[in-house]
Amino acid sequence: MTTTRRRLLETMRVAVRRRFSLDASAPLVRTRAYVDGRWVRAPDDFPVLDPGAGTEIARVADCGPEEAKRAVDAAHEAFRQWKDVTAKERSAVLRKWANLMDEHKEDLARIITLESGKPVKESLGEVSYSASFLDWFSEEARRVYGDVVPSPFANRKILLLKQPVGVASIITPWNFPSAMITRKAGAALAAGCAVVVKPAEDTPLSALALAELSHQAGVPAGVFNVVPCSRERTPSVGRVLCTDPLVAKISFTGSTATGKVLLKMAADTVKKVSMELGGHAPFIVFDSADVDEAVRGAMASKFRNSGQTCVCSNRFLVQSSVYDSFLAKLGAAMDRELKVGHGSKPDSTQGPLINGRAAEKVVHQVEDALSRGARLLRGGRRLGGSFVAPTLLADVSVDMLCMREETFGPLVPVVRFETEQEALAIANSSRVGLAGYFYSSDVSQIWRVAEALEVGLVGVNEGLVSTAEASFGGVKESGLGVEGSKYGVDEYLHLKYVCMGGLAG
Ligand code: ADP
Repeated sequence: MTTTRRRLLETMRVAVRRRFSLDASAPLVRTRAYVDGRWVRAPDDFPVLDPGAGTEIARVADCGPEEAKRAVDAAHEAFRQWKDVTAKERSAVLRKWANLMDEHKEDLARIITLESGKPVKESLGEVSYSASFLDWFSEEARRVYGDVVPSPFANRKILLLKQPVGVASIITPWNFPSAMITRKAGAALAAGCAVVVKPAEDTPLSALALAELSHQAGVPAGVFNVVPCSRERTPSVGRVLCTDPLVAKISFTGSTATGKVLLKMAADTVKKVSMELGGHAPFIVFDSADVDEAVRGAMASKFRNSGQTCVCSNRFLVQSSVYDSFLAKLGAAMDRELKVGHGSKPDSTQGPLINGRAAEKVVHQVEDALSRGARLLRGGRRLGGSFVAPTLLADVSVDMLCMREETFGPLVPVVRFETEQEALAIANSSRVGLAGYFYSSDVSQIWRVAEALEVGLVGVNEGLVSTAEASFGGVKESGLGVEGSKYGVDEYLHLKYVCMGGLAG
Protein backbone atom coordinates (compact mmCIF):
# COMPACT_ATOMS: atom_id res chain seq x y z
CA MET A 1 0.00 0.00 0.00
CA THR A 2 1.37 3.45 -0.87
CA THR A 3 1.88 6.15 1.76
CA THR A 4 -0.94 8.23 0.26
CA ARG A 5 -3.35 5.34 0.50
CA ARG A 6 -2.30 4.61 4.10
CA ARG A 7 -2.83 8.26 5.03
CA LEU A 8 -6.28 8.35 3.38
CA LEU A 9 -7.34 5.28 5.34
CA GLU A 10 -6.00 6.62 8.65
CA THR A 11 -7.75 9.98 8.15
CA MET A 12 -10.98 8.11 7.59
CA ARG A 13 -10.58 5.99 10.70
CA VAL A 14 -9.97 9.07 12.82
CA ALA A 15 -12.99 10.80 11.28
CA VAL A 16 -15.17 7.89 12.26
CA ARG A 17 -13.84 7.64 15.81
CA ARG A 18 -14.14 11.36 16.48
CA ARG A 19 -17.31 12.48 14.79
CA PHE A 20 -19.44 9.61 13.81
CA SER A 21 -19.55 6.81 16.32
CA LEU A 22 -22.29 4.26 16.54
CA ASP A 23 -22.89 5.18 20.22
CA ALA A 24 -24.36 8.44 19.03
CA SER A 25 -27.25 6.49 17.53
CA ALA A 26 -27.69 4.23 20.56
CA PRO A 27 -31.47 4.67 20.84
CA LEU A 28 -31.93 2.69 17.64
CA VAL A 29 -28.90 0.40 17.69
CA ARG A 30 -29.97 -3.16 18.34
CA THR A 31 -27.75 -6.19 18.04
CA ARG A 32 -30.05 -9.10 18.82
CA ALA A 33 -32.52 -10.75 16.48
CA TYR A 34 -36.15 -9.58 16.61
CA VAL A 35 -38.51 -12.52 16.82
CA ASP A 36 -42.13 -12.53 17.97
CA GLY A 37 -41.80 -9.00 19.32
CA ARG A 38 -38.76 -9.81 21.47
CA TRP A 39 -35.03 -9.18 21.17
CA VAL A 40 -33.47 -12.64 21.21
CA ARG A 41 -29.92 -13.91 21.36
CA ALA A 42 -28.32 -16.41 19.01
CA PRO A 43 -25.57 -18.87 20.02
CA ASP A 44 -22.94 -16.75 18.23
CA ASP A 45 -22.51 -13.28 16.88
CA PHE A 46 -20.80 -11.82 13.82
CA PRO A 47 -18.98 -8.55 13.14
CA VAL A 48 -20.46 -5.62 11.24
CA LEU A 49 -17.80 -3.48 9.55
CA ASP A 50 -17.60 0.14 8.53
CA PRO A 51 -16.48 -0.29 4.90
CA GLY A 52 -15.13 3.27 4.92
CA ALA A 53 -12.69 2.63 7.72
CA GLY A 54 -12.36 -1.15 7.72
CA THR A 55 -13.18 -1.21 11.45
CA GLU A 56 -15.69 -3.29 13.40
CA ILE A 57 -18.64 -1.20 14.55
CA ALA A 58 -20.85 -3.83 16.19
CA ARG A 59 -21.39 -7.53 16.74
CA VAL A 60 -24.82 -8.84 15.85
CA ALA A 61 -26.67 -12.10 16.68
CA ASP A 62 -25.70 -14.76 14.15
CA CYS A 63 -28.99 -16.59 13.68
CA GLY A 64 -29.13 -20.15 12.43
CA PRO A 65 -31.93 -22.37 11.12
CA GLU A 66 -33.46 -22.72 14.60
CA GLU A 67 -33.97 -18.98 15.04
CA ALA A 68 -35.23 -18.74 11.47
CA LYS A 69 -37.78 -21.48 12.11
CA ARG A 70 -38.89 -19.79 15.33
CA ALA A 71 -39.42 -16.58 13.38
CA VAL A 72 -41.44 -18.36 10.68
CA ASP A 73 -43.63 -20.03 13.31
CA ALA A 74 -44.13 -16.71 15.10
CA ALA A 75 -45.05 -15.00 11.84
CA HIS A 76 -47.48 -17.79 10.99
CA GLU A 77 -49.18 -17.44 14.35
CA ALA A 78 -49.29 -13.64 14.12
CA PHE A 79 -50.70 -13.80 10.59
CA ARG A 80 -53.92 -15.38 11.90
CA GLN A 81 -54.78 -12.17 13.75
CA TRP A 82 -53.09 -9.60 11.49
CA LYS A 83 -55.06 -10.64 8.41
CA ASP A 84 -58.28 -9.84 10.26
CA VAL A 85 -57.17 -6.47 11.59
CA THR A 86 -59.12 -3.90 9.62
CA ALA A 87 -57.40 -2.27 6.67
CA LYS A 88 -57.93 1.06 8.37
CA GLU A 89 -56.03 -0.06 11.47
CA ARG A 90 -53.20 -1.63 9.42
CA SER A 91 -52.98 1.62 7.53
CA ALA A 92 -52.67 3.63 10.76
CA VAL A 93 -49.86 1.42 12.05
CA LEU A 94 -47.90 1.76 8.82
CA ARG A 95 -48.39 5.52 8.86
CA LYS A 96 -47.13 5.71 12.44
CA TRP A 97 -44.07 3.65 11.49
CA ALA A 98 -43.34 6.03 8.61
CA ASN A 99 -43.69 9.04 10.91
CA LEU A 100 -41.30 7.49 13.42
CA MET A 101 -38.75 6.99 10.67
CA ASP A 102 -39.03 10.65 9.86
CA GLU A 103 -38.58 11.62 13.53
CA HIS A 104 -35.46 9.47 13.75
CA LYS A 105 -34.05 10.17 10.32
CA GLU A 106 -30.66 11.43 11.57
CA ASP A 107 -30.04 8.30 13.65
CA LEU A 108 -31.22 6.01 10.87
CA ALA A 109 -29.04 7.79 8.32
CA ARG A 110 -25.98 7.52 10.54
CA ILE A 111 -26.49 3.77 10.86
CA ILE A 112 -26.86 3.41 7.07
CA THR A 113 -23.65 5.37 6.46
CA LEU A 114 -21.69 3.44 9.05
CA GLU A 115 -22.60 -0.02 7.85
CA SER A 116 -22.90 0.58 4.08
CA GLY A 117 -20.40 3.41 3.53
CA LYS A 118 -22.94 5.63 1.76
CA PRO A 119 -22.39 9.40 2.11
CA VAL A 120 -24.63 10.75 4.84
CA LYS A 121 -26.58 13.01 2.48
CA GLU A 122 -27.52 9.96 0.45
CA SER A 123 -28.34 8.04 3.62
CA LEU A 124 -30.79 10.78 4.62
CA GLY A 125 -32.25 10.47 1.12
CA GLU A 126 -32.59 6.73 1.60
CA VAL A 127 -34.40 7.18 4.92
CA SER A 128 -37.05 9.37 3.33
CA TYR A 129 -37.26 7.05 0.31
CA SER A 130 -37.61 4.11 2.71
CA ALA A 131 -40.30 5.85 4.80
CA SER A 132 -42.14 6.79 1.59
CA PHE A 133 -42.96 3.10 1.02
CA LEU A 134 -44.55 2.77 4.46
CA ASP A 135 -46.45 5.96 3.79
CA TRP A 136 -47.54 4.85 0.30
CA PHE A 137 -48.59 1.38 1.41
CA SER A 138 -50.42 2.77 4.42
CA GLU A 139 -52.68 4.37 1.79
CA GLU A 140 -52.77 1.33 -0.48
CA ALA A 141 -53.81 -0.87 2.48
CA ARG A 142 -57.27 0.71 2.24
CA ARG A 143 -57.62 0.17 -1.49
CA VAL A 144 -57.33 -3.59 -1.78
CA TYR A 145 -60.60 -3.99 -3.62
CA GLY A 146 -62.00 -7.18 -5.05
CA ASP A 147 -64.49 -7.38 -7.93
CA VAL A 148 -68.13 -8.20 -8.40
CA VAL A 149 -68.23 -9.54 -11.95
CA PRO A 150 -71.37 -9.51 -14.14
CA SER A 151 -72.45 -13.14 -14.17
CA PRO A 152 -73.48 -15.08 -17.30
CA PHE A 153 -75.87 -17.13 -15.08
CA ALA A 154 -79.11 -15.63 -13.70
CA ASN A 155 -78.90 -17.62 -10.45
CA ARG A 156 -75.22 -17.08 -9.64
CA LYS A 157 -73.11 -14.17 -8.42
CA ILE A 158 -69.40 -14.02 -9.19
CA LEU A 159 -67.12 -12.45 -6.59
CA LEU A 160 -63.34 -12.10 -6.75
CA LEU A 161 -61.83 -11.61 -3.30
CA LYS A 162 -58.28 -10.50 -2.61
CA GLN A 163 -56.72 -12.27 0.36
CA PRO A 164 -53.24 -12.08 1.93
CA VAL A 165 -51.06 -15.06 1.00
CA GLY A 166 -49.66 -15.65 4.50
CA VAL A 167 -46.07 -15.54 5.74
CA ALA A 168 -43.57 -13.79 3.48
CA SER A 169 -39.81 -14.28 3.66
CA ILE A 170 -37.99 -11.09 2.75
CA ILE A 171 -34.32 -11.33 1.76
CA THR A 172 -32.56 -8.03 1.11
CA PRO A 173 -29.22 -6.62 -0.08
CA TRP A 174 -26.78 -4.16 1.50
CA ASN A 175 -26.96 -1.29 -1.03
CA PHE A 176 -30.26 0.07 0.30
CA PRO A 177 -30.26 -1.48 3.76
CA SER A 178 -33.48 0.27 4.80
CA ALA A 179 -35.52 0.97 1.66
CA MET A 180 -35.35 -2.56 0.26
CA ILE A 181 -37.01 -3.78 3.45
CA THR A 182 -39.84 -1.23 3.63
CA ARG A 183 -40.59 -1.57 -0.10
CA LYS A 184 -41.42 -5.21 0.59
CA ALA A 185 -42.63 -5.16 4.20
CA GLY A 186 -44.85 -2.11 3.60
CA ALA A 187 -46.71 -3.92 0.83
CA ALA A 188 -46.83 -7.20 2.76
CA LEU A 189 -48.21 -5.68 5.96
CA ALA A 190 -50.69 -3.57 3.98
CA ALA A 191 -51.99 -6.78 2.40
CA GLY A 192 -52.31 -8.47 5.80
CA CYS A 193 -49.23 -10.71 5.59
CA ALA A 194 -46.64 -11.26 8.34
CA VAL A 195 -42.94 -11.25 7.43
CA VAL A 196 -39.54 -12.63 8.35
CA VAL A 197 -36.69 -10.42 7.14
CA LYS A 198 -33.18 -11.70 6.53
CA PRO A 199 -31.06 -8.61 5.95
CA ALA A 200 -27.72 -8.69 4.15
CA GLU A 201 -24.85 -9.78 6.39
CA ASP A 202 -23.09 -6.43 5.78
CA THR A 203 -26.00 -4.26 6.91
CA PRO A 204 -28.14 -5.85 9.64
CA LEU A 205 -28.25 -2.75 11.88
CA SER A 206 -30.62 -0.77 9.64
CA ALA A 207 -33.02 -3.73 9.61
CA LEU A 208 -32.91 -4.03 13.39
CA ALA A 209 -33.46 -0.26 13.78
CA LEU A 210 -36.57 -0.66 11.60
CA ALA A 211 -37.70 -3.48 13.89
CA GLU A 212 -37.37 -1.21 16.94
CA LEU A 213 -39.48 1.45 15.23
CA SER A 214 -42.05 -1.13 14.10
CA HIS A 215 -42.43 -2.07 17.76
CA GLN A 216 -42.88 1.59 18.76
CA ALA A 217 -45.40 2.03 15.94
CA GLY A 218 -47.55 -0.80 17.31
CA VAL A 219 -46.87 -3.52 14.73
CA PRO A 220 -48.07 -6.58 16.69
CA ALA A 221 -45.55 -9.18 17.91
CA GLY A 222 -44.68 -11.72 15.22
CA VAL A 223 -45.86 -9.62 12.27
CA PHE A 224 -42.40 -8.19 11.53
CA ASN A 225 -39.40 -10.36 12.44
CA VAL A 226 -35.70 -9.86 11.66
CA VAL A 227 -33.17 -12.71 11.67
CA PRO A 228 -29.68 -11.40 10.87
CA CYS A 229 -26.94 -13.88 10.10
CA SER A 230 -23.37 -14.12 8.83
CA ARG A 231 -22.42 -15.09 5.30
CA GLU A 232 -21.52 -18.58 6.60
CA ARG A 233 -24.98 -19.16 8.09
CA THR A 234 -26.86 -17.55 5.18
CA PRO A 235 -27.45 -20.77 3.18
CA SER A 236 -28.94 -22.64 6.17
CA VAL A 237 -31.15 -19.71 7.19
CA GLY A 238 -32.08 -19.14 3.54
CA ARG A 239 -33.10 -22.78 3.27
CA VAL A 240 -35.63 -22.44 6.10
CA LEU A 241 -37.00 -19.19 4.69
CA CYS A 242 -37.36 -20.60 1.19
CA THR A 243 -38.54 -24.14 1.89
CA ASP A 244 -40.59 -24.14 5.12
CA PRO A 245 -44.15 -25.10 4.22
CA LEU A 246 -45.50 -22.30 6.45
CA VAL A 247 -43.89 -19.70 4.18
CA ALA A 248 -46.19 -18.73 1.32
CA LYS A 249 -44.13 -16.07 -0.39
CA ILE A 250 -40.50 -15.11 -1.01
CA SER A 251 -39.52 -11.60 -1.94
CA PHE A 252 -35.85 -11.16 -2.80
CA THR A 253 -33.65 -8.31 -3.97
CA GLY A 254 -30.08 -9.15 -4.90
CA SER A 255 -27.92 -10.73 -7.55
CA THR A 256 -29.36 -12.77 -10.42
CA ALA A 257 -27.17 -15.72 -9.38
CA THR A 258 -28.60 -15.83 -5.85
CA GLY A 259 -32.11 -15.21 -7.16
CA LYS A 260 -31.88 -18.37 -9.26
CA VAL A 261 -30.80 -20.39 -6.20
CA LEU A 262 -33.80 -19.12 -4.23
CA LEU A 263 -36.19 -19.73 -7.13
CA LYS A 264 -35.10 -23.35 -7.27
CA MET A 265 -35.69 -23.73 -3.55
CA ALA A 266 -39.11 -22.09 -3.87
CA ALA A 267 -40.15 -24.62 -6.49
CA ASP A 268 -40.43 -27.59 -4.12
CA THR A 269 -43.31 -26.07 -2.18
CA VAL A 270 -44.57 -23.88 -5.05
CA LYS A 271 -44.23 -20.55 -3.29
CA LYS A 272 -45.24 -17.24 -4.77
CA VAL A 273 -42.07 -15.26 -5.59
CA SER A 274 -40.96 -11.72 -6.35
CA MET A 275 -37.42 -11.26 -7.61
CA GLU A 276 -35.64 -7.94 -8.07
CA LEU A 277 -32.34 -9.03 -9.58
CA GLY A 278 -29.34 -7.51 -11.32
CA GLY A 279 -29.40 -4.87 -14.04
CA HIS A 280 -27.05 -3.63 -16.74
CA ALA A 281 -28.68 -0.32 -17.61
CA PRO A 282 -27.96 1.33 -20.93
CA PHE A 283 -27.73 5.14 -20.97
CA ILE A 284 -28.17 6.38 -24.54
CA VAL A 285 -27.47 9.91 -25.72
CA PHE A 286 -28.93 10.61 -29.18
CA ASP A 287 -27.70 13.45 -31.36
CA SER A 288 -30.83 15.56 -30.70
CA ALA A 289 -30.21 15.43 -26.92
CA ASP A 290 -29.49 18.41 -24.69
CA VAL A 291 -25.95 17.33 -23.80
CA ASP A 292 -25.81 19.35 -20.58
CA GLU A 293 -28.98 17.65 -19.38
CA ALA A 294 -27.60 14.27 -20.42
CA VAL A 295 -24.45 14.93 -18.38
CA ARG A 296 -26.57 15.89 -15.36
CA GLY A 297 -28.58 12.71 -15.75
CA ALA A 298 -25.46 10.59 -16.21
CA MET A 299 -23.91 11.98 -13.02
CA ALA A 300 -27.05 11.25 -11.01
CA SER A 301 -27.68 7.86 -12.50
CA LYS A 302 -24.10 6.59 -12.40
CA PHE A 303 -22.57 7.93 -9.22
CA ARG A 304 -25.36 7.50 -6.68
CA ASN A 305 -24.10 5.17 -3.97
CA SER A 306 -20.76 5.08 -5.84
CA GLY A 307 -22.43 3.18 -8.66
CA GLN A 308 -23.77 0.46 -6.39
CA THR A 309 -27.43 0.30 -7.34
CA CYS A 310 -29.09 -2.14 -9.68
CA VAL A 311 -30.60 0.76 -11.68
CA CYS A 312 -27.28 2.60 -12.06
CA SER A 313 -26.34 3.27 -15.67
CA ASN A 314 -23.75 0.75 -16.68
CA ARG A 315 -23.32 1.07 -20.45
CA PHE A 316 -23.08 4.55 -21.98
CA LEU A 317 -23.92 4.72 -25.68
CA VAL A 318 -23.37 8.11 -27.31
CA GLN A 319 -24.16 9.04 -30.91
CA SER A 320 -21.24 10.23 -33.03
CA SER A 321 -22.17 13.89 -33.40
CA VAL A 322 -22.32 14.51 -29.61
CA TYR A 323 -19.71 11.95 -28.54
CA ASP A 324 -16.76 14.33 -27.98
CA SER A 325 -18.77 17.04 -26.30
CA PHE A 326 -20.47 14.50 -23.97
CA LEU A 327 -17.10 13.09 -22.93
CA ALA A 328 -15.59 16.54 -22.32
CA LYS A 329 -18.57 17.79 -20.32
CA LEU A 330 -18.92 14.59 -18.31
CA GLY A 331 -15.21 14.60 -17.44
CA ALA A 332 -15.48 18.22 -16.27
CA ALA A 333 -18.58 17.44 -14.17
CA MET A 334 -16.78 14.50 -12.54
CA ASP A 335 -13.84 16.77 -11.61
CA ARG A 336 -16.16 19.44 -10.27
CA GLU A 337 -18.77 17.42 -8.42
CA LEU A 338 -17.28 14.19 -7.14
CA LYS A 339 -15.39 13.97 -3.90
CA VAL A 340 -14.18 10.64 -2.59
CA GLY A 341 -14.18 10.27 1.18
CA HIS A 342 -15.66 8.58 4.21
CA GLY A 343 -19.45 8.79 4.12
CA SER A 344 -19.55 10.68 7.42
CA LYS A 345 -17.82 13.73 5.93
CA PRO A 346 -20.47 16.22 4.79
CA ASP A 347 -18.72 16.99 1.51
CA SER A 348 -18.13 13.35 0.44
CA THR A 349 -20.11 12.27 -2.59
CA GLN A 350 -18.31 8.99 -3.24
CA GLY A 351 -18.04 6.59 -0.32
CA PRO A 352 -16.22 3.27 -0.41
CA LEU A 353 -17.49 0.22 -2.24
CA ILE A 354 -18.95 -2.37 0.08
CA ASN A 355 -15.74 -4.40 0.29
CA GLY A 356 -12.38 -5.09 -1.33
CA ARG A 357 -13.84 -7.69 -3.70
CA ALA A 358 -16.20 -5.07 -5.14
CA ALA A 359 -13.32 -2.63 -5.66
CA GLU A 360 -11.23 -5.33 -7.30
CA LYS A 361 -14.04 -6.11 -9.74
CA VAL A 362 -14.11 -2.50 -10.99
CA VAL A 363 -10.34 -2.37 -11.41
CA HIS A 364 -10.43 -5.70 -13.24
CA GLN A 365 -13.03 -4.35 -15.68
CA VAL A 366 -10.91 -1.25 -16.28
CA GLU A 367 -7.78 -3.31 -16.93
CA ASP A 368 -9.69 -5.56 -19.32
CA ALA A 369 -11.05 -2.54 -21.23
CA LEU A 370 -7.64 -0.88 -21.48
CA SER A 371 -6.06 -4.10 -22.72
CA ARG A 372 -8.69 -4.17 -25.53
CA GLY A 373 -8.14 -0.59 -26.66
CA ALA A 374 -10.26 1.66 -24.43
CA ARG A 375 -8.91 5.12 -23.53
CA LEU A 376 -8.67 6.11 -19.85
CA LEU A 377 -9.86 9.70 -19.31
CA ARG A 378 -10.28 9.77 -15.51
CA GLY A 379 -9.51 7.56 -12.50
CA GLY A 380 -9.00 3.86 -13.11
CA ARG A 381 -7.47 2.80 -9.78
CA ARG A 382 -8.14 1.87 -6.18
CA LEU A 383 -7.47 4.61 -3.63
CA GLY A 384 -7.00 2.52 -0.53
CA GLY A 385 -9.40 0.32 1.40
CA SER A 386 -12.36 -0.27 -0.88
CA PHE A 387 -12.38 3.24 -2.35
CA VAL A 388 -12.20 3.47 -6.14
CA ALA A 389 -11.49 6.63 -8.14
CA PRO A 390 -14.45 7.68 -10.32
CA THR A 391 -13.46 6.40 -13.74
CA LEU A 392 -14.24 7.50 -17.30
CA LEU A 393 -13.37 5.29 -20.28
CA ALA A 394 -13.73 6.30 -23.93
CA ASP A 395 -13.63 4.19 -27.11
CA VAL A 396 -15.23 1.24 -25.37
CA SER A 397 -16.45 -1.71 -27.48
CA VAL A 398 -19.12 -4.29 -26.80
CA ASP A 399 -16.68 -7.18 -26.34
CA MET A 400 -15.22 -5.62 -23.19
CA LEU A 401 -16.08 -7.07 -19.79
CA CYS A 402 -17.63 -3.81 -18.58
CA MET A 403 -20.17 -4.09 -21.41
CA ARG A 404 -20.98 -7.72 -20.65
CA GLU A 405 -21.38 -7.72 -16.85
CA GLU A 406 -22.79 -5.38 -14.21
CA THR A 407 -20.06 -3.19 -12.67
CA PHE A 408 -21.59 -2.05 -9.37
CA GLY A 409 -19.00 0.69 -9.05
CA PRO A 410 -18.06 4.20 -10.26
CA LEU A 411 -17.10 3.34 -13.83
CA VAL A 412 -18.46 5.10 -16.94
CA PRO A 413 -17.64 3.15 -20.12
CA VAL A 414 -18.60 5.11 -23.23
CA VAL A 415 -19.33 3.49 -26.61
CA ARG A 416 -19.73 5.52 -29.82
CA PHE A 417 -22.66 4.58 -32.11
CA GLU A 418 -24.02 5.80 -35.46
CA THR A 419 -27.70 4.81 -35.70
CA GLU A 420 -30.72 4.29 -33.45
CA GLN A 421 -30.96 0.65 -34.59
CA GLU A 422 -27.36 0.05 -33.58
CA ALA A 423 -27.90 1.62 -30.13
CA LEU A 424 -31.04 -0.46 -29.53
CA ALA A 425 -29.32 -3.65 -30.63
CA ILE A 426 -26.51 -3.06 -28.14
CA ALA A 427 -28.89 -2.00 -25.36
CA ASN A 428 -31.11 -5.07 -25.83
CA SER A 429 -28.26 -7.56 -26.22
CA SER A 430 -28.17 -8.15 -22.46
CA ARG A 431 -29.77 -11.13 -20.71
CA VAL A 432 -31.01 -8.75 -18.01
CA GLY A 433 -33.35 -5.77 -18.33
CA LEU A 434 -34.06 -3.63 -15.32
CA ALA A 435 -33.57 0.10 -16.06
CA GLY A 436 -32.72 2.00 -19.22
CA TYR A 437 -32.20 5.72 -19.84
CA PHE A 438 -32.01 7.84 -22.95
CA TYR A 439 -31.75 11.48 -23.95
CA SER A 440 -33.43 12.78 -27.08
CA SER A 441 -35.61 15.72 -28.12
CA ASP A 442 -37.22 13.91 -31.06
CA VAL A 443 -40.76 12.98 -29.98
CA SER A 444 -41.13 10.12 -32.45
CA GLN A 445 -37.81 8.68 -31.40
CA ILE A 446 -38.79 9.00 -27.73
CA TRP A 447 -41.87 6.82 -28.27
CA ARG A 448 -40.02 4.32 -30.46
CA VAL A 449 -37.10 3.87 -28.09
CA ALA A 450 -39.15 3.86 -24.88
CA GLU A 451 -41.24 1.02 -26.33
CA ALA A 452 -38.32 -0.87 -27.83
CA LEU A 453 -36.01 -0.99 -24.81
CA GLU A 454 -36.22 -4.41 -23.17
CA VAL A 455 -36.31 -3.17 -19.57
CA GLY A 456 -38.83 -2.65 -16.77
CA LEU A 457 -38.10 1.06 -16.06
CA VAL A 458 -37.28 3.77 -18.58
CA GLY A 459 -35.94 7.25 -17.87
CA VAL A 460 -36.54 9.63 -20.79
CA ASN A 461 -34.40 12.73 -20.33
CA GLU A 462 -34.19 11.73 -16.67
CA GLY A 463 -31.47 9.85 -14.76
CA LEU A 464 -33.25 9.10 -11.46
CA VAL A 465 -36.73 7.63 -11.74
CA SER A 466 -37.49 5.49 -8.67
CA THR A 467 -40.42 6.55 -6.52
CA ALA A 468 -42.95 4.70 -4.36
CA GLU A 469 -45.80 5.74 -6.67
CA ALA A 470 -44.32 3.98 -9.73
CA SER A 471 -43.67 0.31 -10.41
CA PHE A 472 -40.19 -1.12 -9.99
CA GLY A 473 -39.35 -4.44 -11.59
CA GLY A 474 -37.28 -5.93 -14.38
CA VAL A 475 -37.78 -8.17 -17.40
CA LYS A 476 -35.68 -11.10 -18.67
CA GLU A 477 -33.28 -12.27 -15.96
CA SER A 478 -33.75 -9.06 -13.96
CA GLY A 479 -36.66 -10.53 -12.13
CA LEU A 480 -40.28 -11.38 -11.57
CA GLY A 481 -43.04 -9.12 -10.31
CA VAL A 482 -43.02 -5.45 -9.34
CA GLU A 483 -42.65 -3.44 -6.18
CA GLY A 484 -44.06 -0.04 -5.32
CA SER A 485 -47.02 1.51 -7.20
CA LYS A 486 -50.62 0.36 -6.85
CA TYR A 487 -49.49 -3.06 -8.13
CA GLY A 488 -46.96 -3.73 -5.34
CA VAL A 489 -49.58 -5.04 -2.91
CA ASP A 490 -50.76 -7.67 -5.42
CA GLU A 491 -47.50 -9.54 -4.90
CA TYR A 492 -48.74 -10.43 -1.40
CA LEU A 493 -52.33 -11.28 -2.35
CA HIS A 494 -54.10 -14.07 -4.10
CA LEU A 495 -57.38 -13.87 -5.87
CA LYS A 496 -60.18 -16.12 -4.64
CA TYR A 497 -63.19 -16.69 -6.85
CA VAL A 498 -66.39 -17.12 -4.88
CA CYS A 499 -69.40 -18.33 -6.83
CA MET A 500 -72.66 -17.74 -4.98
CA GLY A 501 -75.14 -20.07 -6.65
CA GLY A 502 -78.74 -21.18 -6.24
CA LEU A 503 -80.03 -17.64 -6.06
CA ALA A 504 -83.71 -17.08 -6.76
CA GLY A 505 -84.43 -14.79 -9.69
P1 ADP B 1 -24.06 -9.91 -2.92
O1 ADP B 1 -23.14 -10.90 -3.56
O2 ADP B 1 -23.91 -8.55 -3.45
O3 ADP B 1 -24.05 -9.95 -1.41
P2 ADP B 1 -26.42 -11.51 -3.03
O4 ADP B 1 -27.46 -11.63 -4.07
O5 ADP B 1 -25.61 -12.73 -2.76
O6 ADP B 1 -25.52 -10.28 -3.42
O7 ADP B 1 -27.06 -11.05 -1.65
C1 ADP B 1 -28.33 -10.47 -1.49
C2 ADP B 1 -29.00 -11.11 -0.28
O8 ADP B 1 -29.15 -12.50 -0.54
C3 ADP B 1 -28.20 -11.00 1.02
O9 ADP B 1 -29.10 -10.83 2.10
C4 ADP B 1 -27.55 -12.36 1.11
O10 ADP B 1 -27.23 -12.75 2.43
C5 ADP B 1 -28.67 -13.23 0.58
N1 ADP B 1 -28.27 -14.58 0.14
C6 ADP B 1 -27.17 -14.94 -0.54
N2 ADP B 1 -27.16 -16.30 -0.73
C7 ADP B 1 -28.29 -16.78 -0.14
C8 ADP B 1 -28.87 -18.09 0.04
N3 ADP B 1 -28.30 -19.18 -0.43
N4 ADP B 1 -30.04 -18.16 0.70
C9 ADP B 1 -30.66 -17.06 1.19
N5 ADP B 1 -30.16 -15.83 1.07
C10 ADP B 1 -29.01 -15.67 0.41
